[in-house]
Amino acid sequence: MSKEDKYTAEKITELRTWTPHLFSFKLTRFSGYRFVPGQFARLGLKKEDGSIVWRAYSIVSASYDEFLEFFSIVVPGGEFTSRLAELEVGDEVLVEKLNYGFLTTSRFEQGKDLWMLATGTGLAPFISILQELDTWEDYENIVLAYSVRESNELAYLDTIEGLKQHEYFGDFAHKLKFVPIVTRENIDGMLSERIPVLLENGELERAVGIKLDAVRSRIMICGNPEMIDDTRKWFVDNGYTISRRSKPGHLALENLW
Ligand code: NAP
Repeated sequence: MSKEDKYTAEKITELRTWTPHLFSFKLTRFSGYRFVPGQFARLGLKKEDGSIVWRAYSIVSASYDEFLEFFSIVVPGGEFTSRLAELEVGDEVLVEKLNYGFLTTSRFEQGKDLWMLATGTGLAPFISILQELDTWEDYENIVLAYSVRESNELAYLDTIEGLKQHEYFGDFAHKLKFVPIVTRENIDGMLSERIPVLLENGELERAVGIKLDAVRSRIMICGNPEMIDDTRKWFVDNGYTISRRSKPGHLALENLW
């Protein structure tokens, strides 16, 4: 396979700015591009010297959308994200034809409650998973806990809220317990501690009204690598196991950077 066969050149069709450091973008989608919700793509940007810099990006959009959508932070001075943040509609982004990752519900067997725990842009794969009918049919309860530093960083609230009116998922939307968490502001009625703390003190369970339980609960974690380590440790210490390809367990994890 030549280098060019490994990727396609796509165009930015839409940009959405959430904060000066957070934005989303849509790309045209190569008709042969397939992925399972929860997986990530590898995106490439050409540098002035002709070399390409690649980064992994979880896919926000649904498996059936005609576009690919991604959610990005701008890392100050970052080789990829600062370049990406300067692009405009019509500009080119390379997309590897292969997709990657195991943060998919197929990792699990026999769960009743799906817990999705995200920090920052780690929300991305869960938006894709929430747009899949199987997710809504397979689980009795779906918890989405989404932790950011400041409330203006809470992205995709319109999409999450919009699930209630959604043509296909509206009938199931009562299953979703959405818990936004803002850690660096005190907002009345909103949780403000880090996810592992909220697990340890039981506040997350109280907020959603569902008990974590290894028989029923299947847990997906995505975002800040330290949050993933700390959260995984809490679950493992409490008797949960990580899903392996050969042996389904309770936990599936994806480090974002
Ligand atoms: P972040 O530091 O990841 O914080 C987002 C949320 O995660 C906050 O609620 C934060 O709580 C919480 N958190 C952080 N560490 C945690 C831990 N160990 N356990 C539990 N929760 C934890 O913030 P961000 O704005 O999304 O990203 C911050 C930095 O990450 C950026 O400046 C960037 O350098 C880097 N980043 C890099 C990439 C990349 O692709 N290279 C991608 C994303 C982010 P607190 O408020 O208590 O910290």
